[in-house]
Amino acid sequence: MTGEIDWGKLSFTYIKTDYNVRCYYRDGKWGELEISSSESINLHMAATCLHYGQEAFEGLKAFKGKDGKVRIFRMADNAKRMQDTADGILMQRVPDEIFLNACIKAVQLNSRFVPPYESGAALYIRPLLIGSGPKVGVSPADEYLFMVFVTPVGPYFKEGFKCTNLMITRQHDRAAPNGTGPYKVGGNYAASLGSGKIAKEKGYSAVLYLDSREKKYIDECGPANFFGIKNNTYITPESKSILPSITNKSLLQLAQDMGMKTERRQVPLEELETFEEVGACGTAAVISPIGRIDDLDTGKQYLISKNGEPGPTCVKLYNKLRAIQYGDEPDAHGWTTIVSE
Ligand SMILES: *Cc1c(COP(=O)(O)O)cnc(C)c1O
Repeated sequence: MTGEIDWGKLSFTYIKTDYNVRCYYRDGKWGELEISSSESINLHMAATCLHYGQEAFEGLKAFKGKDGKVRIFRMADNAKRMQDTADGILMQRVPDEIFLNACIKAVQLNSRFVPPYESGAALYIRPLLIGSGPKVGVSPADEYLFMVFVTPVGPYFKEGFKCTNLMITRQHDRAAPNGTGPYKVGGNYAASLGSGKIAKEKGYSAVLYLDSREKKYIDECGPANFFGIKNNTYITPESKSILPSITNKSLLQLAQDMGMKTERRQVPLEELETFEEVGACGTAAVISPIGRIDDLDTGKQYLISKNGEPGPTCVKLYNKLRAIQYGDEPDAHGWTTIVSE
């Protein structure tokens, strides 16, 4: 059946695989991991995830190397981030052991869906934590469901590593100051669907959000962090309302390894015109280089790349991180976990 999948042409869509893994929190404790071949879950109609947004997710990838080994990238970091999210919206934390075992099992049980090395594709891993216990009054659930499913996803850049454009608008916010911005919850995505649709309709790849209190500083893109490069320095915003991207953290480390300076600080909007290179980063694309940013409210355009080609630092960082993920280069920081030979 997987013989029918054209790995190189896959996009970011759901494809059914063989198994998913589930674990229930009931009566004050987590149960055993369960393996399921069903794509459905049985859920109480008053579950808190349906009414009060008790929902957290993660996204990470497994890669098949030239050596045939399958590696999962930085999953311990995703486990930690899901725990932080759980704390943030009063859900039960998923212990490391359960999170890591569930990811490994989900990949191993679906090994025939891990795309071959040559395709440039990967197996996307989606952990999900939801309040499953019933409540009508607003309060956290007593029961939780943690599950992990996987789906193969194609190479992000099918026509090569190319720039896309972003738009800025002050008419929509993604996350409130002191709100749920730093947590990976569905609610932040619900808040960004409207502006994301406008961006797509106008031909932009995403919205670049400003801080929602003052609209003075750069926050992040809808589903990806922001970074800029200038004077041999990797600069990424410090903000209480952005999601701490694991890709961003990795690029920051790699930039240091390459002898660059790094800064995590507030980035005023005006600084945009001083960057030599700009990128959006996240698990989906690693780096999505940015060519131009249009401020729709003021009409100002920030032209970053004159020819639509990514700059040399973006190319270097992108190639380096991908090489570690696929096992082409040594994993000096211990980021990958080999889950099959
Ligand atoms: C998941 C996510 C990112 C990217 O995080 P990675 O760990 O690099 O995949 C960035 N911003 C938001 C809002 C996210 O939800």
